[in-house]
Amino acid sequence: MNKGGGMKKMKYVLVTGGVVSGLGKGVTASSIGVLLKACGLRVTSIKIDPYLNTDAGTMSPFEHGEVYVLDDGGEVDLDLGNYERFLDIKLTRDNNITTGKIYQAVIDKERRGDYLGKTVQVVPHITDAIQEWIERVAMIPVDGQPGPADVCVIELGGTIGDIESMPFTEALGQFSYRVGKTTTYETLHDAAAGNFCLIHVSLVPVLSAVGEQKSKPTQHSVRGLRSLGLTPNILACRSTLALEENVKQKLSQFCHVPAENIITLYDVPNIWHLPSLLRDQKAHGAILGALNLLGVAREPNLKEWTSRAESCDMLLEPVRIAIVGKYTGLSDSYLSLLKALLHASVSLRKKLVVDWVPASDIEDETAKENPEAYKAAWKLLQGADGVLVPGGFGDRGVEGKILAAKYARENRIPFLGICLGMQIAVIEFARSILGLQDANSTEFDPDTKSPCVIFMPEGSKTHFGGTMRLGSRRTYFQVMDCKSAKLYGNRGFVDERHRHRYEVNPDMVSTLEDAGLSFTGKDETGQRMEIVELPNHPYYIGAQFHPEFKSRPGKPSALFLGLIAAACGQLDSLLHAHKIPNGMAKKVSLYQNGNATKFAKIPADGIYSNCNGVHA
Ligand code: GLN
Repeated sequence: MNKGGGMKKMKYVLVTGGVVSGLGKGVTASSIGVLLKACGLRVTSIKIDPYLNTDAGTMSPFEHGEVYVLDDGGEVDLDLGNYERFLDIKLTRDNNITTGKIYQAVIDKERRGDYLGKTVQVVPHITDAIQEWIERVAMIPVDGQPGPADVCVIELGGTIGDIESMPFTEALGQFSYRVGKTTTYETLHDAAAGNFCLIHVSLVPVLSAVGEQKSKPTQHSVRGLRSLGLTPNILACRSTLALEENVKQKLSQFCHVPAENIITLYDVPNIWHLPSLLRDQKAHGAILGALNLLGVAREPNLKEWTSRAESCDMLLEPVRIAIVGKYTGLSDSYLSLLKALLHASVSLRKKLVVDWVPASDIEDETAKENPEAYKAAWKLLQGADGVLVPGGFGDRGVEGKILAAKYARENRIPFLGICLGMQIAVIEFARSILGLQDANSTEFDPDTKSPCVIFMPEGSKTHFGGTMRLGSRRTYFQVMDCKSAKLYGNRGFVDERHRHRYEVNPDMVSTLEDAGLSFTGKDETGQRMEIVELPNHPYYIGAQFHPEFKSRPGKPSALFLGLIAAACGQLDSLLHAHKIPNGMAKKVSLYQNGNATKFAKIPADGIYSNCNGVHA
């Protein structure tokens, strides 16, 4: 791209939402990125969250979905996970803009006296800060190649008209005017040419009484958008079925958007279909036209996406994974985990079925207080092919998680413990095998006589007061003859993302190892335990890091792949196939034809579970 030399102009695609929240704006924006990437362009992305929190680190996963962790330790909105997974890129904490971050930057500047006595105001100071932030961050390379990307997809969170997004809409209105028009000689006279393309995602509901597609809500939200100085180039309308021609005409007339730029985001069996759905309606043509890129981009190649989306729909043989966690009512709380399980299942051609087991329901106390819930929870656990204990904070459900780990260990059920889940596995082992009845983490019992998990903050010179060990850290394999090293492709080390304060007590490691536990991965000092395994168990692995954050469609994360393979009885063949994870589905054929179980309805994310509402 941009071979002609000269200063490269960044092209921006802004994605806004109207009418209601929860339209799948994030997945749509990610799919737009995939489509542009398939046209040969390099793509980066920025997510704007108009809330006041500086980052998502302090937000409850129950309220806001999971906290996604980046390589640089940024604790960000889960939509950045969608971008990383869809575009196979690595974002930075600055790719997530919040009101809190912008105000903090402006107030810091004011305190330094940088405004030279001026009255500091939302317009122009906050709005300028937003634009400067966007322009700066858009230039950061995120795909491993040198130099900035060609296109930056910006997603504005929330719905147009929200009070808290006003400074952003004002800033983006100014921004579209300022960067929108291209100034090169060749394109100066082309009215359509520019550097800015606005895609408005909206809803076209169908009233069941009359069965008619209603365009009015979209008309209103576009009017709102225009009143804020933003003109949509493309309308992407969510609706159950494709838009009828007369509805498109009406929308075109009232919203001043050409009918061919009105795309329907109708319901698809799984979200991997979205890029091709956009391509089939020529969304790329409209975007590339608006960005004056028609001459440089190629026809999109989405072969990999289409075949993955289609093969995901056709999977029949289930693999049942019990997730024993705290927030089992809302699957967004464990979004990356679900995605990692899905990537692994799809690559092994299994239909993922997730059974959510509320950790506290398997505790003895529940047997007395709510015997029905107790029975139901144990039934789910006992029906699972594999057990996963995810990360978590706080002591609710900890005893239940310990029981789940014990059950998996004793019954030789494949088990993966992540972060807290690894700590749980160590506590359970210390209690059951070393006979240390009160073994615990000092997070849950500060006075325990057997502290097998302790507070181990990382001495950070830059983040005063921050005690969390966050972001990418290196794990060195201690032996090569272990499942985790093999699953990671026999590399000497691996970089994964962390988010924790507590760790296995180094003083207890030799006792634990003498009793049969094996710490197969450690940090560079040998003091921090990163991976634990039970060698004489079919698959019993705990990781202090969160491998789920680096799992990608087509590139399943090693430890998840191991769990699913073990749960389907395929681990040995997987481990014997020397070259593992990346793109493994193509290299190793592990197809198994068993008794197919039919499911009535295909869920939109390809994951079957006993809980609804997974979004991306
Ligand atoms: N609460 C544990 C810790 O801080 C585990 C954290 C996690 O699972 N993310 O170490």
